[in-house]
Amino acid sequence: MIFDVMTLFPEMVENYFQYSILKRASDGGIITVNTINPRDYTENKHKKVDDMPYGGGAGMVLMPQPYVDAYESIPKLENTLTIMLSPQGEPLTDKVVNELGQYEQIIMLCGHYEGFDERIREIIKPREISIGDFVLTGGELPALCLIDAVSRKIEGTLGKIESADEDSFSNGLIEYPHYTRPREYRGYKVPEVLLNGNHKEINEFRLQKSIERTKARRPDLYEKYLQSHNKP
Ligand code: SAM
Repeated sequence: MIFDVMTLFPEMVENYFQYSILKRASDGGIITVNTINPRDYTENKHKKVDDMPYGGGAGMVLMPQPYVDAYESIPKLENTLTIMLSPQGEPLTDKVVNELGQYEQIIMLCGHYEGFDERIREIIKPREISIGDFVLTGGELPALCLIDAVSRKIEGTLGKIESADEDSFSNGLIEYPHYTRPREYRGYKVPEVLLNGNHKEINEFRLQKSIERTKARRPDLYEKYLQSHNKP
């Protein structure tokens, strides 16, 4: 899967793929992450990418020309989606992540400063995605969140020991608690059922804990879970 990230700060994005699981995925050719800097496409001699807002107000607005030209320079496959990272977009959820995993290529526009000149939206017509109801200084972290979440669901990214099947949200619930050695730490013990090797009991225990956690922490998800399991 190809991710093309349009950013004024390519190193911020590239560095992320120098570590851990996503480095392995990138080295192994499971994902390819390219960066495109709109500053390289400016037509003005000072390489300016932003300017003051018409109508006044604080902050600088990203100019259309460098972004549209940079976007048009990117080679596109048939099955390509273009995303603008924006706090005004639809929320990024596990469902959206699964949907995005169906594309061969995702092009992402990362904003900065006050955000994009509206004509960038009008011309490129991207799908707008937000990572939450808060505002960050730039779209690089949201783009990395999106790439990370989509990549870890691509076959081959996670090794045998790291599985996404039982992660939070995969079955509509948040995940059960985990324990590792030692069996007792500062008086806190690992639940006995996890030590007895009975996988049926372990699965039942984990499902029960998942349900309890979801009910306590995410009543919205719990309601949906009950409805999908036809429980009143
Ligand atoms: N003025 C914009 C507004 O109020 O909607 C916010 C601009 S923000 C300071 C700069 C850039 O950061 C945005 O263009 C976007 O790319 C990115 N950004 C900030 N918060 C985000 C979020 N919650 N989700 C996705 N992208 C975000």
